[in-house]
Amino acid sequence: MDAADVIGEVAGLVAVCTRCQLHLSRKKAVPGEGPADAEVMCIGEGPGFYENEQGRPFVGAAGNLLNELLQRGGLRREAVFITNVVKCRPPGNRDPLPDELTFCGDYLTRQIEAINPLMIVTLGRYSMLRFLPLARIGEAHGKAVPQNGRLIVPMYHPAAALHQPGLKTTLERDFAGLQAHLQNARGLRAPKAPPPAAEEKPSTPDHNEPQQLRLF
Ligand code: URA
Repeated sequence: MDAADVIGEVAGLVAVCTRCQLHLSRKKAVPGEGPADAEVMCIGEGPGFYENEQGRPFVGAAGNLLNELLQRGGLRREAVFITNVVKCRPPGNRDPLPDELTFCGDYLTRQIEAINPLMIVTLGRYSMLRFLPLARIGEAHGKAVPQNGRLIVPMYHPAAALHQPGLKTTLERDFAGLQAHLQNARGLRAPKAPPPAAEEKPSTPDHNEPQQLRLF
């Protein structure tokens, strides 16, 4: 199975998933979208009202801001795989519960393994804690942490900036750093240069060999 097949299979499983209670109130599951060979994955928290209606991630106000922020980071939304730690809307946009994160976590693991992104941008606390369980968003935001041959870059959730306008500047600055992080992430996987060829030494006469008489 190639990466696109796995992504399609996960989307099919998520659409009919009944592992946790979130399926009871979902209209549409939101497995995520984007190229199966994306260099960058953005992982948010969970679908909101509009995402639940449309079955697509980040299509509401937070999504509009995310698109803007990605542009600042030199990234096109279409080039990024965007998903969430839970694939169905928590009622009233409440925080996802531990068992919901656990059950849905398998789907995210399969998506990450298939896409094998160079960089994972986490959006919000729940997404960050999946990769960096000891991190604090106030200190970690915008900084890249190497993990399993890729970079994890925690960001504040774009929705937070809609409620706290002061955070928007921070998000803009952090996203502006994404191109530099991506260059570094490419370096993590760049093939290692071969060691320099051993310098050819000028041949010295072997004193054990009979020397040829040099005639002038
Ligand atoms: N917030 C999220 O975390 N994910 C979405 O898909 C939309 C809003």
